[in-house]
Amino acid sequence: MVETLKIEIKKTAKSRVSEVNFHDIPFGKVYADHMFMADFRNGDWKNLRVVPYGHMLISPATPAIHYGQSIFEGLKAYKNDRGEALIFRPLDNWKRMNISADRMCMPYLPEDIFMEGIHTLMELDRDWIPTTEGSSFYIRPFMFSADEYIGIRPSLDFTFMIINSPVGPYYSTPVKVKIETHYTRAVEGGTGFAKAGGNYGGSLYPAKLAQDQGYHQLIWTDGREHKYIEESGTMNVMFVFEDTLVTPELGDSILRGITRDSVLTLARHWGMKVEERKISVKELVDGLESGRVKEAFGAGTAATIAHIELIGYEGKNHYLPPVETRKFSNKVLNELEAIKRGLKPDPFGWMYTF
Ligand SMILES: *Cc1c(COP(=O)(O)O)cnc(C)c1O
Repeated sequence: MVETLKIEIKKTAKSRVSEVNFHDIPFGKVYADHMFMADFRNGDWKNLRVVPYGHMLISPATPAIHYGQSIFEGLKAYKNDRGEALIFRPLDNWKRMNISADRMCMPYLPEDIFMEGIHTLMELDRDWIPTTEGSSFYIRPFMFSADEYIGIRPSLDFTFMIINSPVGPYYSTPVKVKIETHYTRAVEGGTGFAKAGGNYGGSLYPAKLAQDQGYHQLIWTDGREHKYIEESGTMNVMFVFEDTLVTPELGDSILRGITRDSVLTLARHWGMKVEERKISVKELVDGLESGRVKEAFGAGTAATIAHIELIGYEGKNHYLPPVETRKFSNKVLNELEAIKRGLKPDPFGWMYTF
């Protein structure tokens, strides 16, 4: 950490934390007292500051609004019994943000700005980190183009920000998903590997169609042939075929999930057989019918592990075995939650204490 980083702090006049019912926090609607901001001007990050969370003025000609030159990250903090903030793998989010930035013609964000931004907010808004069972503190760093210019070109000016939101327990009712074989989230050569705003706008409509049919979420397939499994909604997707953990191999249409990597790391550490490879829809559906597929789950920061109850394909629902029988996904979920909350050793150096 560079000591010389200068962050100007303007504190809120009155904290709103006492207004929050930490036993019933609506997801994504409550934001902590402060937010972090930095401006990219004339080729440099400057004006690093913390201000009270609130609305801000931007030009109606901001290219991020018109053309989607915007990227984001999502990570979580927890509080241990000493009152310290524990952050899960923040440097991996920082690295991925720069991979997204590169693809979207946005500037490199230095590590110290990302980490000190989070650190400063944790010091100020520590009381916002829930300690109620199952709750956590969602950290949302993001960057957007900030020129006042509606010509189509990469912007010159950008804004980087971090806002934070306490989130309640994630209701882990198993999810119903549908294999999507018409619409496409991402395609080779596109921006699927970047956490770029436009990827999500375009995926709302197909997801809505599936929700109208009673599913929670889609399983995306490759954009060329719709023959291979890619992701599930905004989570990576994993299966246990007999005793082997299988997940689609990374490519430029799949987001490089940090939860995905954590699950694979633990599985290998436990000596489980792991395969990152193409999984065809046919192999999956055959495996569901023959009973070779024992477990299926989504992996992402929001839920950590989201058990999949059933998979719909061509009008037929294929059910998975009951959640209680799923040894691996339950074990890895418990292990990850315990590491994140500081209740178990952290053999891979994932946790940052602020
Ligand atoms: C964020 C995201 C994931 C999960 O990534 P994590 O780092 O595990 O949170 C997976 N797929 C998509 C499309 C995402 O946006």
